[in-house]
Amino acid sequence: MMKETENDPKKPAISTRSVQSNDEVDTAVFDELESEVRSYARNYPVIFDRAEGAYLYDQDGARYLDFLAGAGSLNYGHNNPILKEKLIEYIEYGGVTHSLDLHTTAKERFLDALNEVIFKPRDMNYVVQFTGPTGSNAVEAALKIARKVKGRHNIIAFTNGFHGVTVGAMAATGNSHHRDASGVPLVGATHMPFDGYLGADVDTTEYLDRMLSDPSSGIDHPAAAIVETVQGEGGLNVASFDWLRKLERVCRKHHMLLIVDDIQAGCGRTGTFFSFDGAGVSPDIITMSKSLSGYGLPFAVTMIKPEYDQWKPGEHNGTFRGNNHAFVTATTALRHFWSDDSFAREVQQKGALLMKRLDEIAARYDDSLVRSKGRGMMCGLTFATGEMAGAVTREAFEMGLVIETSGPEDEVVKCLAPLVISEQDLLQGLDILEQATAKVMASMDGGADSAAA
Ligand code: PMP
Repeated sequence: MMKETENDPKKPAISTRSVQSNDEVDTAVFDELESEVRSYARNYPVIFDRAEGAYLYDQDGARYLDFLAGAGSLNYGHNNPILKEKLIEYIEYGGVTHSLDLHTTAKERFLDALNEVIFKPRDMNYVVQFTGPTGSNAVEAALKIARKVKGRHNIIAFTNGFHGVTVGAMAATGNSHHRDASGVPLVGATHMPFDGYLGADVDTTEYLDRMLSDPSSGIDHPAAAIVETVQGEGGLNVASFDWLRKLERVCRKHHMLLIVDDIQAGCGRTGTFFSFDGAGVSPDIITMSKSLSGYGLPFAVTMIKPEYDQWKPGEHNGTFRGNNHAFVTATTALRHFWSDDSFAREVQQKGALLMKRLDEIAARYDDSLVRSKGRGMMCGLTFATGEMAGAVTREAFEMGLVIETSGPEDEVVKCLAPLVISEQDLLQGLDILEQATAKVMASMDGGADSAAA
């Protein structure tokens, strides 16, 4: 972790204090009372206390650069001051907090902002369903409405796709670690190869089209296909815009809806508000959550083309549909960051810098050991094994960087720095990642031989 230096509190000193030997951190209450299901906490055995921008601070005041950022929920940083001010104002005013799906001023303002700032400039025509506040619930709603509209049960999902851990969403999720915990058969989805899954030369939409065209392929005619444009949990696999356009064509040809799950890749993560902006596709349904509230508050929506909004009142229900505090911060975030393209351009520049540095780090090693991958500010390094990637994240944490792995074998170290991070902090985090990688590679058997010429 980093201790703030007296001279320059913005310039962190890299501490070498070992996290494993960090016996003064008393985590007994969590160990005794919190379920074994906890996961992230196991990798960072400290107690976080406060947070600001790209930094987390533990109870001892040590600070950590946060490249996990709530798994993509903190694109505008921790406790963004612009959003915080509006939230405090709203609370002090006595604005409604809980309202089921009643009309509220906060919801009215959110819908106005979404329409003015996001939909209208893109000529997009959607209605907004406020689902329960998790991404999984937005996905459940998307799958349910697609099935209802088309009167078919099957959904095409893709290898390494991740859509949530409730039963319906998990049926469309590839990861066996999560699937195995379902306790019931996961039905209603057929998994097809994502872009690049069968090698760079194979167009997997042609395979999909062939399977859907053959009445004897064994695939039940699907209601929809659900896809992430960049697979977050699945290991930063990027769908090309060309592939997305072809996927849309296959969906149209076979009278299926196209659902884009933009829960992790959306809200600017790839450099544009929607991850498919500029791809030339028009999804029938879009799911969003994570950074939509802007402040880390639970909030999820399913955006539906009006002709497919065939819900009867209350059919997809929930007590916490529409979080008024999230409406306030989401409205502020939309108006502040997305009213023009200056923030998008800033994110694109930082994304290019991030990829350049990751390319430089990867270039030091053989391609079979380390490679860079991703798009925009959703990039990382893929290692030969999950053990290597895990060792890199542990070393990085020792040096004050909170960063996680993803991918089928947890082999991808994923940089999800807040989009508002300063260039200096971004480079600082990447320096740590570079040092952690060097340390792990050097410790490997034959590590010295593995460096690329
Ligand atoms: N879809 C995608 C693309 C996600 O990344 C996630 C969460 N990692 C989900 C759905 C599920 O969201 P939640 O964890 O809020 O249920």
